[in-house]
Amino acid sequence: MAVLGATGSVGQRFVARLADHPWFELRVVTASDRSAGRPYREAVNWLQTEPLPAVAADLVVGETSPDGAPDCPLVFSALDSSVAGTAEQAFARAGRLVVSNSRNHRMDPDVPLLVPEVNPDHLALAELQDRGGGAILTNPNCSTIGLVLALKPLVDAFGVEEVHVVTLQALSGAGVPGVPGVQVVDNVIPFIPGEEEKMETETGKILGRLRGSAIEPSAVRVSAACNRVPVIDGHQECVSVRLQRPATVDELKEAWRGFRGEPQRLGLPTAPRPAIHYLDDEAAPQPRLHRDLGQGMAAVVGRARPCPILDYKFVTLSHNTLRGAAGGAILVAELAVERGLPERLPLG
Ligand code: NAP
Repeated sequence: MAVLGATGSVGQRFVARLADHPWFELRVVTASDRSAGRPYREAVNWLQTEPLPAVAADLVVGETSPDGAPDCPLVFSALDSSVAGTAEQAFARAGRLVVSNSRNHRMDPDVPLLVPEVNPDHLALAELQDRGGGAILTNPNCSTIGLVLALKPLVDAFGVEEVHVVTLQALSGAGVPGVPGVQVVDNVIPFIPGEEEKMETETGKILGRLRGSAIEPSAVRVSAACNRVPVIDGHQECVSVRLQRPATVDELKEAWRGFRGEPQRLGLPTAPRPAIHYLDDEAAPQPRLHRDLGQGMAAVVGRARPCPILDYKFVTLSHNTLRGAAGGAILVAELAVERGLPERLPLG
């Protein structure tokens, strides 16, 4: 497979996670023409704590075009959204299965927006795509993923009508080089362009029902307020919910603790077990302490308590560049492969 946008914040996570993946072999890395033609180890400003994997170090960064990635039926995209839309479309037209982190195609009616624990059945939409042989699968926005993972057990057990969420989002969510230090040290920025709208619309699509060849969005109403905070990795979210059916706090905790999704049932290689950790410590979850649970793939929930306005409130945390981006996309690809999607598409 190929990683598009391999030099960026999410692209580096892809390279790190795919270097020794049991099913996928990293063959091609691409980026902009600023980086193309140079060995990956020189083109990238490697910001991960693990060493740059040997399998990627000497790959020459290619230009982002299907011709530069022969023998790569699977393509992960971590491209900047200014170029992702057309590039991903070109790869799909060339018969590739594209799994994208970018926002461009997320809300296209024929494109599934997948969190494998939450809406694995939406994968079927990909088979109806008419994009020239390949297909595009998408991963939601990083803060939406954490929210829907925490909501899913409550939706299944009690129904959820309304959600109010305030996010505290990490700096790595703004990419490389990201937000300038002088703006973020000793500060909180109460605006992330487009983020609130994404959380409010993507949640409805993910929690919606696949009916025939379309997703009927869930009627859940979401109000999001998004903030950038001086944390390196890990998006924390303070959530209040109105439920459809009455429940006790203990029943909420049971729903989170008992939750198993399709990736856990199928035993997919990077599925966290469990998918959701509920922590009883009243000062949990915290980004520095808990973002790496389940190798950065779990949602970590805590502080469930009554809400005087809606029914209950709680805090959820998830790793934004792992579960919220590269790791989540790899899990989508594992689900697609396990479900036999590549065999059913006329991939080139
Ligand atoms: P980033 O650090 O800015 O990386 C962008 C990547 O795109 C780099 O590899 C860059 O290559 C490449 N690129 C830029 N212009 C290009 C062009 N004209 N042609 C080909 N490649 C080009 O961004 P990021 O944070 O990793 O995010 C990548 C995507 O994932 C974005 O669409 C973002 O919205 C989405 N996303 C990010 C997160 C997160 O937590 N960071 C979470 C979910 C989704 P050069 O190095 O050569 O410039």
